[in-house]
Amino acid sequence: MPNPRTQRLLRDDLRDVVRGELVIGDVALGACSTDAGVWERQPLAMIAPRDATDTLAVLTYASEHGISVHPRGAGLGLTGDCLGRGIVVDCSRHLRRIIETGPDQFTVEAGITVREVREALANHNHRLPGLTAEADEFTIGGWLNGQDLASVPSESGHWRTIETARLALSDGTIETLETVPLDFVDSPDTLTGPRRGLYRVANWRGSHGEFSSPSERADRALANLTDLIDRDEKTFRPQRVIAGSRGTLGILLETTLKTVPLAGYYLWAAIGFDLPERAADESRNLPEPAHLEWAELLDWRSIALASDSNTTLKSFFPEPTPATLCLRWAADDESGLRNIERRLHETFRGRSVYVRSELASSRIEHPLATPRRWVRRALSSRVGAPLPRPVFDSLTVPPDAVAGVLSQLAGASQNARLNVSVRVAPLTGRITLDPLFDPTRQLSDIPIAAWLGRLSDIVEKSGGTLWGVEPWMSRIRGSALSRRFAGTIPVWREVKASLDVAGVLNPEILPGLPRTDFSVRVLSIPAALVPAEKSVKSTESAHLTLLEPVHESTIDTYPALPILEAELTWPEDRGPQLTASACNSCGACRSLDPTSRMCPSFRGDRSESSSPRALAGLLRQVTSGTIDPTLWGSEQLKEAAEACFHCRMCRTECQAGVDISALMIEAKAAAVENYGLAPKDFWLSRVDTLARLASFFPVIANAILSHGRSRWVLEKVTGLSRHRRLPRVRRWSFIHRAEQRGWSKPRPQLPGPRVALFLDILANHFDQDLAETTVEYLKWAGVNVYVPSRQRSSGMPALVVGDLERARELVRINLRVLANAVRDGFTIVCIEPTSAMVLRDYYPRLTDDLDASLVADNTLELGTYLSGMNDRGLLPAADQALHGRIGYHQPCHLRAMNVGNPGFELVKRVPGISVEHIDRGCSGIAGPFGFSRSNFRKSLRIGYQLRSRLKGSDIEVGMTECLSCRMQMEQGLTKRSHHPVEILAMASGLKPDLRAHWNQPKPRNIIT
Ligand code: SF4
Ligand code: SF4
Repeated sequence: MPNPRTQRLLRDDLRDVVRGELVIGDVALGACSTDAGVWERQPLAMIAPRDATDTLAVLTYASEHGISVHPRGAGLGLTGDCLGRGIVVDCSRHLRRIIETGPDQFTVEAGITVREVREALANHNHRLPGLTAEADEFTIGGWLNGQDLASVPSESGHWRTIETARLALSDGTIETLETVPLDFVDSPDTLTGPRRGLYRVANWRGSHGEFSSPSERADRALANLTDLIDRDEKTFRPQRVIAGSRGTLGILLETTLKTVPLAGYYLWAAIGFDLPERAADESRNLPEPAHLEWAELLDWRSIALASDSNTTLKSFFPEPTPATLCLRWAADDESGLRNIERRLHETFRGRSVYVRSELASSRIEHPLATPRRWVRRALSSRVGAPLPRPVFDSLTVPPDAVAGVLSQLAGASQNARLNVSVRVAPLTGRITLDPLFDPTRQLSDIPIAAWLGRLSDIVEKSGGTLWGVEPWMSRIRGSALSRRFAGTIPVWREVKASLDVAGVLNPEILPGLPRTDFSVRVLSIPAALVPAEKSVKSTESAHLTLLEPVHESTIDTYPALPILEAELTWPEDRGPQLTASACNSCGACRSLDPTSRMCPSFRGDRSESSSPRALAGLLRQVTSGTIDPTLWGSEQLKEAAEACFHCRMCRTECQAGVDISALMIEAKAAAVENYGLAPKDFWLSRVDTLARLASFFPVIANAILSHGRSRWVLEKVTGLSRHRRLPRVRRWSFIHRAEQRGWSKPRPQLPGPRVALFLDILANHFDQDLAETTVEYLKWAGVNVYVPSRQRSSGMPALVVGDLERARELVRINLRVLANAVRDGFTIVCIEPTSAMVLRDYYPRLTDDLDASLVADNTLELGTYLSGMNDRGLLPAADQALHGRIGYHQPCHLRAMNVGNPGFELVKRVPGISVEHIDRGCSGIAGPFGFSRSNFRKSLRIGYQLRSRLKGSDIEVGMTECLSCRMQMEQGLTKRSHHPVEILAMASGLKPDLRAHWNQPKPRNIIT
């Protein structure tokens, strides 16, 4: 654990010299102490520099005080490369600008993601060589500092793409490494700075050929020393040394990369084989290797999962085979690719189980491009299924040894009783093996170290190398590996000394030497873990006890683990600790893929501490005692938990199904239990009561909400952002109006399907036209509608602030009235998806009253209910044409319920209407989150993509089921947004007054 005094000093020293965010303190750092692998190390501090000056300030300070520095790109290292005991420098938050785009090169900052670069380059008809869409989540810095990912030799060598590298060095200087003509280099002495040492090493390297291996690729285990001197071109290219250097030489600030033209067409192919070894052998017979861009061998498990989640892939994988070779050729010329396709079929017909191929434009995102994404999606629907967890990076063997090595690896994994997910690039010899672990099983049963020891023997004999095993070196019989690296360690030391003069950059990483400063993170905790005093010792078994004792464990320091009394009901076999531990740190929740949603909060500020991974890690560490367990129930932990705004997208999309939203409710509830509610949370939790009061005095309420000065005061007192546009408060609630119109009496004896309408705050007090339209439309469709007058808010605002007492009070009131309605044969229908989600998913977790399950099982969101009626032929057609183009946004909570897009599908059938599904992520408002002063800007940032598409001149109106998303869609825009039921009602001849101006700019009925 970092010493608090040291942390205080560090904060005092750096606070004024670094403009970027400085993270210090157990809770904040607990969230940043893992990477994508199984290792854990809490740093002294984490800094997100805003620019080169910030980065230099940190490096200079660290060098003066002998503190190690660990650069972090996207945090995608598998083997603790971006973890360490010193200061972690997170470049992925601010250093992500595109600086310059040239005809065949591209200059970017290191923290930008590969996806962003790929998309920007595609606009210029260019691409980075050697990359597939699978690397999208990497940052450019992470990609270059890591091992080369190219899967074919013709594309190989990410070092070859580096034209310049601008590095912040530990001596407080910035160096730009770039190509120097050899004519200018008479001797090393004519060079200055780090180039001199590098030139000496490069010369030595050139004259000594390879270090020790017959395979050049298998040797490149730290910095790249290949091709630094190009005798043919007569150039010295020192910038290439940073490739694969794992942050040990300098902090990459920006780089210029060589790009190549984007080919016009791709030929995609899949070849099934009966044996992985045969597939590896046959890969050497592929036609036209010069045009081959991607060749990867996937095992049957990955193929089955990918086809499950994307059925279009089934045509590529018609039969289950033990191994499938997935391929892509590229060319501008369609006929050339047709020729390759013909030869491919001729060659492999009879030598394989099947051959499938398809020619497509390179502009189309082909499903075969991202098999791992589909695998992840499939796993996300199997909560609790065994998950692949990276325990080391990969191994590389000479390509002609791949087939032999594969069968030996299969034997070793079988002996170790490990199920392993396998990916192989047979043409480059890179093999990735990720064991699958059952999250309910303790890792101490799994002999990983013995397995790695066996792998190292196999790889050693084949002349290859294991990558990223340093944290295991003292645990596996490391001698063979250490011997293998022995000859090269002095060379790497010299390279490091040339650039990292102070020796502070990732000093522990040196291949062949053990890293003893790490602990294996608690991957799994038994569900029945008893958090009492006597359980302190037993928690050791939660660590990998097969290995050496956990280094620097804090477990003995603390008297007892926290008493985590879960407030919500959890599945018996998956309590909160196990849920948090199920996160395998894959980093998928840091993705910026526009077709996925998680995690909007991370996308809003790109801060690791906002990511689901960090929040799961934090919970795991506190509840396991890795960091101070007394933090459970603290204000600090609650503050960290506030990064989550409960969209529940991680539960839906994370492959481990980690329900961060529920975990954060637990964390907030524990703090509320100890310290009570902060004033702003108190009012938020009672926003239904405030709305009710306001509806008694609408003139005064609207005056307060529309006046700049009163909004300023309101902002100071309640935290409600004065910039958020709000709807007008209406006189009396809708429920009151429903009572007057006789809609609040259940009449089960009346004919037709029975619906009890649940309104929630916005429809009841603000958007009463929508509530009225819903009732009218349902009645028009022959539904027997009842609006229970004693219903209250669903309780979501109370849940998100951790006020479970208030939430339970509302649950009790609502259950009393809703359960009776269900018993009378009514289906509970919610106008908004959030209410349906709370009633369905949270009510049974908040109370053990059997009525909660009864209500949950009989609750539907409005669109789902209408779609069900439509399927049964009970919904009259909405056949009056409405002419216009609608942009539809699917609310996160509708997505979280996994019911599809029923409202969107119904509206699509309205004659004359054209609807575009704007699949551009979360709207950003996230209930109370986007209303608060502190989150208002972030909320707009999160919803930027959606709002900018809505601004398009071709879209006339917006559409969404969620009323707060609708407020975000209308914030600052004059375009209206409607609920799908309003469109259906207008197209059914109802609401003529609304129909008259449905796609016109909205009147000024919104308070600003
Ligand atoms: S929360 Fe899920 S997606 Fe994020 S790192 Fe953990 S397992 Fe991966
Ligand atoms: S619930 Fe939403 S905001 Fe919270 S961690 Fe998950 S994806 Fe992020």
